[in-house]
Amino acid sequence: MSRVIEIVEVGPRDGLQNEKAVLSVDEKLDFIGRLEACGVRRIEAVSFVNPKRVPQMAGAEEVMEALPHRAGRSRIGLALNLKGWDRAVAAGCDEVNAVVCASDGFGMRNQGATVAEQLATLADIAAKKAAEGGPRLSATISVAFGDPFDGEVSEQQVVAIAREAAALKVDEIAIADTIGVADPWTVRRRIEAVRAAAPGVRLRMHFHDTRNTGLANAFASIEAGVDVLDASCGGIGGCPFAPAATGNIGTEDLVYMLDRAGFETGLDLDGLIAAGRWICERLGKTPPSAVARAGGFPVRS
Ligand code: ZN
Repeated sequence: MSRVIEIVEVGPRDGLQNEKAVLSVDEKLDFIGRLEACGVRRIEAVSFVNPKRVPQMAGAEEVMEALPHRAGRSRIGLALNLKGWDRAVAAGCDEVNAVVCASDGFGMRNQGATVAEQLATLADIAAKKAAEGGPRLSATISVAFGDPFDGEVSEQQVVAIAREAAALKVDEIAIADTIGVADPWTVRRRIEAVRAAAPGVRLRMHFHDTRNTGLANAFASIEAGVDVLDASCGGIGGCPFAPAATGNIGTEDLVYMLDRAGFETGLDLDGLIAAGRWICERLGKTPPSAVARAGGFPVRS
């Protein structure tokens, strides 16, 4: 049996959040429907941030209302605080992804909270879940390889957060290169360090292709034994701190690479290419994903 790699589709959240165009609820649902038709089973569908601050993410409740629970499907809502958790639970999310920034500089500017305050918030969310029940909870450590304000982020910073998140019994920890500054060798070392500090916790990796190292970092993660990766269809998105940057690693690009090597993703490459081209047309841009532009191989008639 070939090794299974799970890809979490983040286009509707991380992708759209960093695009200038603001899609309607119906357009978002159309995008999510196209992605799920390609075999996507875990999808970051919405974000429970303040829509006044992030207008691209408005309508989260309406999007979730149109996505009834379905066996084998997990629709994830992003939450930055307890209010976000409550909204995600009320909206019927199958999973909540809580974010803790790895550095105070980014944390203060992005979430108005230090790392310690964000960890306290994560503890509040975990306690509420333990008391009242609720969906799966994952914690994403953002800017885990570098911060646009504080500069370098050390391995010790990331490990300390991972250790605390693991102690709170989150279901998964994601290590995110939010601004696209990681290299594959550092990725490997950081995975090994987090694993040593938080043994047994399921790891997920999240890369932006800001400086063309995204797929190399994905490769390094898989070589280091990580089985779950985020990607965004079409490679849409960007980086708020690098105005001309491309977005997350493209789902098509990752699936293509894994398909060629014999891994199992359960995703339909041709369908993803079509969905990536479709969403980029909606956004009025050429797909950043190389495979969306070039097509797969061998060419199927
Ligand atoms: Zn991201």
